[in-house]
Amino acid sequence: MNVLFHGPSGSGKDTQVDLLVKKYDFEKIGTGEMFRKMYAKGDPDAIEAHGYYSKGRFVPNDLTYKMFERYIENFDPKKNWAFVSVVRDVGQIPLFDNLLEKKNRTLDYFIHFVLSEEMAIERRALRWTCPKCEITYHEKYKPEKNKGYCDKCGTKLIQREDDTPEKTRSLIREYNKTIEPILEEYRNRGVLIEIDASPTIEEIHKEVIRVLNL
Ligand SMILES: [Zn+2]
Repeated sequence: MNVLFHGPSGSGKDTQVDLLVKKYDFEKIGTGEMFRKMYAKGDPDAIEAHGYYSKGRFVPNDLTYKMFERYIENFDPKKNWAFVSVVRDVGQIPLFDNLLEKKNRTLDYFIHFVLSEEMAIERRALRWTCPKCEITYHEKYKPEKNKGYCDKCGTKLIQREDDTPEKTRSLIREYNKTIEPILEEYRNRGVLIEIDASPTIEEIHKEVIRVLNL
């Protein structure tokens, strides 16, 4: 099974995919992680990409997918694949199609987590991040065991600068503008599933496994 997950920042998409990895043995494949991991290895394309995103600029689609083609070799082809936000721009749709085709796979579902502006603001204002392993915690929905410190590595948690209400509002508006043509394409293909991202993690997870027939 191949599922592409997408949603605005704060919609909990990573948390949902992590649950699928843990309970259903999915491979989690995301371009954000790809950029970080390949950059850490000193990959020349990743260094070029870093020049864009470190300045808040969009990495060109060709460069992203050139890297993605190599990065995807790291994943077990016999497992289900959960892609996270690997199509962020309409221009990436044919590149993603191409990549799946080369791997003899087809996209079964595009799951979009829908979140209101107000809910996104609330989520992100209470969000804490581990600067070392990048796990996120939430005061209301997913608190850490030892207050203020990462469960996994013990590092002191920080609040990200772009989690403020003003930043969140402008990010959500920008997001809605870019996502619409992407959703339209996958809606036309009949693979789009929209899931309300406002209930609890457990409720959303139940809905995810229901729609995926797991
Ligand atoms: Zn940590």
